[in-house]
Amino acid sequence: MLESKIISLYRSIENSYNTFNLTSKGVVLPGLYKSKQITKDALTLVYLYSKINQSVSKEELTAFIKKYYPKTNDVQQARHLAAQKGWYILSGTRGDVNSGLKNGEYKLVSIEIPYPEFTSGRRTQTIGTDNWDSLKEKYDYRCATCGSKEGEIHYYNPSLVTKIQKGHMNPNLPLEIGNIIPQCSWCNRPYRNYFCFDETGRVSAINDPKFIEKSTTEVQKKMFQLLKKKFTDQ
Ligand SMILES: [Zn+2]
Repeated sequence: MLESKIISLYRSIENSYNTFNLTSKGVVLPGLYKSKQITKDALTLVYLYSKINQSVSKEELTAFIKKYYPKTNDVQQARHLAAQKGWYILSGTRGDVNSGLKNGEYKLVSIEIPYPEFTSGRRTQTIGTDNWDSLKEKYDYRCATCGSKEGEIHYYNPSLVTKIQKGHMNPNLPLEIGNIIPQCSWCNRPYRNYFCFDETGRVSAINDPKFIEKSTTEVQKKMFQLLKKKFTDQ
């Protein structure tokens, strides 16, 4: 991997780290350079990110790190990045349930949310995000997206009494604390899995590309051109 590629992947991770305010969740972004050399932590994170949601063996990771640090025989960085720095890296060795990973395999799941059970030692867990009721309380029992309040008449549909449901922030990840926002049934249902949301209930990304079918032909053509340009230049 070219150094320019490593740097560009690192910047994407850094961007996401800032966008999703991971520092407030206790996640630590490793530095890119130390003594003019790219750090092992940064190399590891970048490599896992280049294969996001795929399993990576420890051997493969070690072979990659060895190009920069020839004396490395046993890469521990992936484990540290998850356990000490909060990155959402599953490990077969640690026995992450349902990960489908074998012993010695790792998988970076997301750069938008921390490892689910992660609590940094330097920081107490945000009060109230450990169960659904207190999460709703944090949002004043309102839908994160439209603001309608539980048990009250819905803002946009007066025939509806607002019912607050668990909405995914990222539909590809499990519905668990850290990936849940309260949403009313009115907002939750039509969005289905089309979008990813941020903590404030705003759309942050398209999740299901089929949504483009709902757009005008004009927009679809623009999308086509944009993607064609992006993927033929690579
Ligand atoms: Zn709503």
